[in-house]
Amino acid sequence: MTAVDVIVVGAGPTGLMTAAELMLAEAYPMVLDALPERNPMSRAGVIHCRTAELFDQRGMLESLLATGDFPTTEIGHFAGLPVDFQSWPTRHPAYNVPQGKIEEFLEARLVGGGVPMLRGHQVVDMVAEADGVTVTANGPDGIVRHRGRYLVAADGGRSTIRKIMGLDFPGRKGTSTSVTAEAVLSGLGSTRQGLERSSGGHWAIQFPLEAPVRRLVVGGPGPAVPREAEVTTDELRAGLRAVYGDQVELVGLRRAARIDNSARQLTTYQRGRVLFVGDAAHIHLPLAGQGVNLGLGDAFNLGWKLAAAVHGWAPDQLLDTYHTERHPVGARVLANTQTQGLLMDWVGTGDPDLSAARGILEELLRRPEAMRWMAGMMTGLDIRYDIAGASEDPLVGMRMPDLDVTVAGEPRRSHSLLHTGRGLLLDLTRSDHLAAAAGAWAARVDHVQAEPRGDVPATAMLVRPDGHVCWTSGLPEMEKALTSWFGAPNRSPADPSPVGSARE
Ligand SMILES: Cc1cc2nc3c(=O)[nH]c(=O)nc-3n(C[C@H](O)[C@H](O)[C@H](O)COP(=O)(O)OP(=O)(O)OC[C@H]3O[C@@H](n4cnc5c(N)ncnc54)[C@H](O)[C@@H]3O)c2cc1C
Repeated sequence: MTAVDVIVVGAGPTGLMTAAELMLAEAYPMVLDALPERNPMSRAGVIHCRTAELFDQRGMLESLLATGDFPTTEIGHFAGLPVDFQSWPTRHPAYNVPQGKIEEFLEARLVGGGVPMLRGHQVVDMVAEADGVTVTANGPDGIVRHRGRYLVAADGGRSTIRKIMGLDFPGRKGTSTSVTAEAVLSGLGSTRQGLERSSGGHWAIQFPLEAPVRRLVVGGPGPAVPREAEVTTDELRAGLRAVYGDQVELVGLRRAARIDNSARQLTTYQRGRVLFVGDAAHIHLPLAGQGVNLGLGDAFNLGWKLAAAVHGWAPDQLLDTYHTERHPVGARVLANTQTQGLLMDWVGTGDPDLSAARGILEELLRRPEAMRWMAGMMTGLDIRYDIAGASEDPLVGMRMPDLDVTVAGEPRRSHSLLHTGRGLLLDLTRSDHLAAAAGAWAARVDHVQAEPRGDVPATAMLVRPDGHVCWTSGLPEMEKALTSWFGAPNRSPADPSPVGSARE
């Protein structure tokens, strides 16, 4: 039996990113996935602005973008209505990076870092105890067992771990199934793309992937079909005919799958030593990149906290904040995608009242403050955690702005100071008091003295490894904030388990 710090079940984007964060923090992970190879189906295709910032904070954005030619956009959508992301200050647009590319990139990074990546290993059983978790997996060479101090369940919407633990997955049952396909279509010309509807409630969305293949989604009225049921070319042709008449023909089909509008969320993301992330914790209609970005956000929130627990310096309740912070974010995405599905008439009622509601929303979005609100929600840039001091300083709980600063004579962006994955005490005043206090947490927090190049919202800020501000110079009691996020001062990490040191 192999023993590691954390067993990550599921090598989708969320599991891989959680493992990457654990690797960075030297909490030794192992990743198991049932599939022998990565899922080739085109699924989510956008990294929203906040996720781009998170990649950038780890110094990974440039190298990810170097793996292909990915268009950018500053205009997204909510229920098909344009949403202008530029209403928020960020250095990043949204990047149209296919989910498969994110997975390929993260997997290569983990393998390069020596993390065991066991593909073709389907977890079939799990026993969680007070001091660790044992999983049984069916691998290419038969049954194998692995022991971890913690387990991250990143095994998707139909999570085996959730089922083994007998957890309720409350929410709304899917009422409508649509078909998504990678297809070659004739009759569309070079510019026609996006959502089109017929009067009977049928609709189709299509846009180009790599030529001549397009991503096609068709839906409309009719009973929900089990997601496992094979998609036929006849039903795709019927869906196209209902929307485009004889103008558009299916001339080739590479892959197809079904998606539905179920909306469910675990009531708690943590059960003892088992933590749920991504689709294993929440499912919803996959719209506007909300699914993959939500999961990646879970991973960045959890990774450093779980590593702190592994190393033995996590303050009381640090790990609990993973659930208390991310559950509301997930609930909001469920509400957002349910509303989008309704306004887009995903189920194909053909109800004219829904067009009226869309018209009203369109009018509302002409107001700059409404557009900004919507852009904040869709990009994740407005995420604010309920952190002590939040009522006194609007920066607390928010993401650290990416400030231009000078560090040791070199121009830097403040987000680049988070590449280490450690806490950051950004000191823009060269204060002796901060320097003395920070020394006591030097094992976990980087104290960086910098000169601002431009306006700054605070002269000092304490930033968590996930980039969220947990104290500013506008508040008293910096030591209290350091203790509650980074543990007692001067305690060296217990039982560090560097990457590459699997204990047999
Ligand atoms: C056809 C399709 C189209 C989609 N389109 C979009 C879109 O346009 N926009 C959007 O935002 N989202 C979309 N999504 C949703 C998006 O893909 C998910 O939100 C995202 O993949 C969630 O990532 P995850 O890592 O949490 O889970 P997943 O990507 O589902 O990864 C879970 C992994 O766990 C593995 N696993 C499962 N059970 C076991 C087990 N017992 N043992 C070991 N491994 C196991 C699986 O093989 C899988 O690799 C789409 C999904 C599908 C299926």
